[in-house]
Amino acid sequence: MSKDSILVINCGSSSLKFSVINPATEEESINGLAERMGSSEAVLRWKINGEKGSQALGQAAHDQAIEGLMGLLREEGLIDRIAAIGHRVVHGGEKFTQSALVTDEVIAAIEDCIPLAPLHNPAHLLGIKAAQKFFPGLPNAVVFDTAFHQTMAAETYLYAIPYELYEKHGVRRYGAHGTSYRYVGQAAADMLGLDINNSSIMVAHLGNGASACAIKNGKSIDTTMGLTPLEGLVMGTRSGDIDPNLFNFLNKSLGYSLERTTEMLNKESGLLGLSGMDSDCRVIEDAAQEGNKRAQLTLDVFCHVLAEKLAGFAAAMGSVDALVFTGGIGENSSIIRKNVIERLSIFGFKLHEQKNDETFRGKSGVITEEGSTVAMVVATNEELMIARDTQALTA
Ligand code: AMP
Repeated sequence: MSKDSILVINCGSSSLKFSVINPATEEESINGLAERMGSSEAVLRWKINGEKGSQALGQAAHDQAIEGLMGLLREEGLIDRIAAIGHRVVHGGEKFTQSALVTDEVIAAIEDCIPLAPLHNPAHLLGIKAAQKFFPGLPNAVVFDTAFHQTMAAETYLYAIPYELYEKHGVRRYGAHGTSYRYVGQAAADMLGLDINNSSIMVAHLGNGASACAIKNGKSIDTTMGLTPLEGLVMGTRSGDIDPNLFNFLNKSLGYSLERTTEMLNKESGLLGLSGMDSDCRVIEDAAQEGNKRAQLTLDVFCHVLAEKLAGFAAAMGSVDALVFTGGIGENSSIIRKNVIERLSIFGFKLHEQKNDETFRGKSGVITEEGSTVAMVVATNEELMIARDTQALTA
C-alpha cells in the first residue's frame, strides 16, 4: 500500500477534528472528531465511505484521543497510507510566515506564542506531542492561521498605541483564517482564469467566526481580525469592532469587571446579542422573513459592517477582480450575499438573483451578472490546504 495520504489534525482544548486526505486526488478517506475530551463522556466519532461510527473514549484527554484515533485508523486499514501528519495551529505570531516541519525549535516558538492564543496554542502542542508519541516515525508539520497575513505592511498591522507595546509585547494585528484565504484565493483565481500574482481578490470568510481579507497579487495586504479573533466583523457570538472605552463605561455604569465584559463581547454579542435569539444565521434569517424587525436589523448590522470593510479593501487594492464568499454563511446564505452586494454597487457589482439563490451546500461559482464586477462563492477546504502544505514539507 502506498503512503499517499496525510492525517490532518485540528486540536482544540476539548475537541479534536481529524481527516485523512490524499492531497494529489483530494480524496478524503475518513473524517471525524473526538469531543467532550477531558470529561468522562469523551467520544470519538467518524465517517468513512458515508458510514458513521463512534466509540466511547472514557475519561480521555489529548493523549488517549490520539491513541484511540491510531487504533481506529489501524482497524480501518488506513494507517499504512499515512505519510505525514499536518496540524492546524492558530497563532504563529511574527515567527512564522509559512508552514513548518515540527522540530524542537518550532515547538519552542509555538510555546512562545501562547500569550497570544492562550486557549488554542497549548491544545495544539498537546496534539503535536501525542501525535509524535503514537505515530513514531511519521513527520509532523504545522500550518498557521496567522502566517498568510504576515505580508501586511506595518501601517496596516500597527495600532496607534504606544509603540513599545508592539516592540516589547507583540501587540499588533495578526489576523486569522489564513489557511482558508490561501485556499479560496487560489481557487477563485483558477476558476476565473486569473494569474493570482496579478490580481485583486477580496474574500469574506463568514462562519461562526467571521473575517475578511484583501489579497493583492496573491498576498494578504489587509484583514479584519486583529491581535485576537474578536476584532472586525460581527460574528455568531463575538461583537467585532467596538469602542475600547466600553470596558471603562460598563465598569463605571454597571460595575462590570474586565472578565465580565470580555465574556460578554466574546460569547454574548454578535448575531446572538443583537437578535436576542440565536447565534445561528439561519434562525435569524427565518425570523426576519417572518417580519421580525430586530432580526432584520441584526442582519443589516452584520452586512453594513462587512460592506464597509470590503469598500476599504477595494480602495486599498486599487482595483477589484473578485469578491469571494466562503464559510458556512458565505457558502449558504443568499440573503446575506445579496444584502452585501447591493451595498457595494458603487464598485460595479450586479447580482444575478437566480445564480445567487442556487449556490449553496458546497457549490462554487459566480453569482453576478455578465459585465458585473465578479462576486462568487468558493467552498473553503482548510484541511486540503493543510494536507498539501504537509506533503510539500515532508516529501
Ligand atoms: P462555519 O463556522 O463556517 O461552519 O459556519 C457555521 C455557520 O454557518 C452557522 O452558525 C450558520 O449560521 C451558518 N449557516 C449554515 N448554513 C446556512 C444557511 N443555509 N443560511 C444561513 N446561514 C447558514
